[in-house]
Amino acid sequence: MNKFTINKSLLKHTAILLIVFFLLGLYFEISIIFFFVGLWIYAMFYQTLEILLGSVCRFQVFKQLFSIPLVHLNYGFNLPDVYNYKQKNHYCLPFEGEWLVCNGGICKNTSHSWHLPSQRYAYDFVAIDDKRKSYNIIKSDIENYYCYGRNILSVADGIVVEVGNNHSDIKNLNGEVKSPIRDLRGNYIIIKHSCDEYSLLAHLQENSIMVKVNQHVKMGEIIGKCGNSGNSSEPHLHFQLQTGKSFYLSAGLPIRFRNVVVVSKCNYMHNEFSEHYNGFIERNYLIKSKLYSSIF
Ligand SMILES: [Zn+2]
Repeated sequence: MNKFTINKSLLKHTAILLIVFFLLGLYFEISIIFFFVGLWIYAMFYQTLEILLGSVCRFQVFKQLFSIPLVHLNYGFNLPDVYNYKQKNHYCLPFEGEWLVCNGGICKNTSHSWHLPSQRYAYDFVAIDDKRKSYNIIKSDIENYYCYGRNILSVADGIVVEVGNNHSDIKNLNGEVKSPIRDLRGNYIIIKHSCDEYSLLAHLQENSIMVKVNQHVKMGEIIGKCGNSGNSSEPHLHFQLQTGKSFYLSAGLPIRFRNVVVVSKCNYMHNEFSEHYNGFIERNYLIKSKLYSSIF
């Protein structure tokens, strides 16, 4: 098959997909979310072009966008939120010592990704020093980041249902050397805690995952190390609680961690602050678990 034939075939499928998206858009327009749907269709078109250019990572972004209306439909346009969802299990923090919530929260303006249902209540965590920096001396070397290589813990008892474990860390952060990103999550673990509560821990260090699929884990058990694999701009832990195993078709769940101490609130990357809301953590909170002592 020559290149021309491949492109012709892809263009045909792209045209069909765009027509489907357009029809979906018309439907949603009636549901008074015109602007968002317009943005979504534009993003789909853009991502389709990126796929034609051959990026596997972009294909995952495409899947994320495609799944948005499916998740909304599945939940009758009433996604789980802090008012209608009652958490089933107790959860500890997925790390030891003090870490900063550098992204994520329960409201729209602090949310990790409000419009991506599975990541709506996700959190990104980094470790910082007393100067509020996440790295020591040289910013471009991942080894200098305080959270890199730190233990990552299971947040509750459960069974490992999925592991992604063959990605390299993106080692150099100055933009000159880039590893191919085959999965947005890099190395990751998904643990089932009950029939509709699953935790996802992503961007783990290469070769650091200590658990296998079908393995039972306990709350606080070390399951891997913090890394910089996947779509990650610096070493950090991405954590989310979701309704199922699928990264794309699950809805994100708001999570109240147990025994959390808010050490302080600091302006790290964003200006917005929000109040500590009934046990939920928010962006810019420096937190630790009562079970562990600070290393700084
Ligand atoms: Zn994240």
